[in-house]
Amino acid sequence: MKVIIVGGGMAGLTLAYWLNKNGNEVQVIEKAPELRTEGYMLDFFGPGYDVAEKMGILDQLSRIHYPISGLKFLKEDGTYKFKLPYPSLRHLFNGRHFNFLRGDLEQVLYNLVKDRVDFKFGLTIDYIHEDNDQVYITLSDGSRDTADLVVGADGVRSRVRSLVFGDHENYIKHMGYYTAAYIIDNSSMNKQLDNAFYSLSSPGLQASVYPIRGDRSATFFLYKSSKKEGHLSREEAKKELDHHFNHMGWVVPELLDKAGEAADFYFDEVSQVVMPHWSKDRVVLVGDSCQAVSLMAGQGASLAMTGAYVLARSLQENNDVNQALDQYEDDLKPQVMTTQASGRRFAHYFLPDTRWRIFIRDITMRISVLPIIRKFVNMNRARIPK
Ligand SMILES: Cc1cc2nc3c(=O)[nH]c(=O)nc-3n(C[C@H](O)[C@H](O)[C@H](O)COP(=O)(O)OP(=O)(O)OC[C@H]3O[C@@H](n4cnc5c(N)ncnc54)[C@H](O)[C@@H]3O)c2cc1C
Repeated sequence: MKVIIVGGGMAGLTLAYWLNKNGNEVQVIEKAPELRTEGYMLDFFGPGYDVAEKMGILDQLSRIHYPISGLKFLKEDGTYKFKLPYPSLRHLFNGRHFNFLRGDLEQVLYNLVKDRVDFKFGLTIDYIHEDNDQVYITLSDGSRDTADLVVGADGVRSRVRSLVFGDHENYIKHMGYYTAAYIIDNSSMNKQLDNAFYSLSSPGLQASVYPIRGDRSATFFLYKSSKKEGHLSREEAKKELDHHFNHMGWVVPELLDKAGEAADFYFDEVSQVVMPHWSKDRVVLVGDSCQAVSLMAGQGASLAMTGAYVLARSLQENNDVNQALDQYEDDLKPQVMTTQASGRRFAHYFLPDTRWRIFIRDITMRISVLPIIRKFVNMNRARIPK
């Protein structure tokens, strides 16, 4: 079977791996001119960890893992509150947890398939048409191709989804938060960061910074806002960040100053994607394009890889493509819906919007890693659905 995957992120690359392994001809169309670089730090655990184990890449993931000393929580002026040592946190996941940069994970996945799969970088899809047996596509350079199956693995604002299923507004659910993440060169700041992930909180706001390889620091900002901004330029996004975070102390003013020149600047609303169906005839979606759970649920990467694995497994187990696509959705959707619901429920906990909620969040976090309590906590219960 010939499969064209649109999007070479973690969902697209994982799917390319499994489809190629199962004997299919695979092509990946990626909008970026080359593989994306670092991005932001991912907490990686749950079913995606199990998929990575099946792919035999746990050793490689342990090499890109950042062995931080812990999470340090600070007040908004930068004064120290408490620390959660990373080894205690890892216990909550039965040791099956990594922190790594999105781009480092994608590089590991890309290395597995780059010699076996045809990649077209710097292109997107402009047109899709299908009959009973084939899908016909036109790419942004005007070239045409046909496939037995087209997969949209092109993220929250999926082009495949908008071409086949309709407008983004029907599916993207804004959760009332915005996030920014970028990387800055700053060896002097790294000396202050001493290998920990620092997080400053004030009601409805979180600013985080952590050192990464090459004497650089990565930032992560999150704030509550129900405003619908639409697409913001970097300059406009920077103004928004200044507006919300300029009262914070310690290194935050320096982080904000450097947003203009930072590499890999990311700014977007925090959203989930909710769809009644993930496929239409011979076009199917995988990863954030159909199932984004949001960073509030903390498992988007894990579930993107799980979705890719379950889709490839269903295609392998069923001769009929439509039956396979239905089985993929039946197998995975309940888990995605549960994770989305918990992401919505725990958003207040992830980003408390009052001082009282910050206090409660801090207390529960500190209690959860106590040896007597952590025996009863298992953050790693979700598995690859059967
Ligand atoms: C700040 C932040 C922090 C996060 N933290 C975590 C975390 O701690 N743990 C976790 O598990 N998840 C986290 N997530 C979520 C996680 O990053 C996503 O769920 C995951 O990246 C989804 O993978 P994907 O491959 O489906 O989509 P994406 O990662 O969005 O990849 C889509 C790919 O498609 C390409 N593409 C886009 N449009 C087109 C087009 N028109 N044509 C061709 N190619 C296209 C893109 O360039 C990209 O390569 C976080 C997200 C953010 C924003």
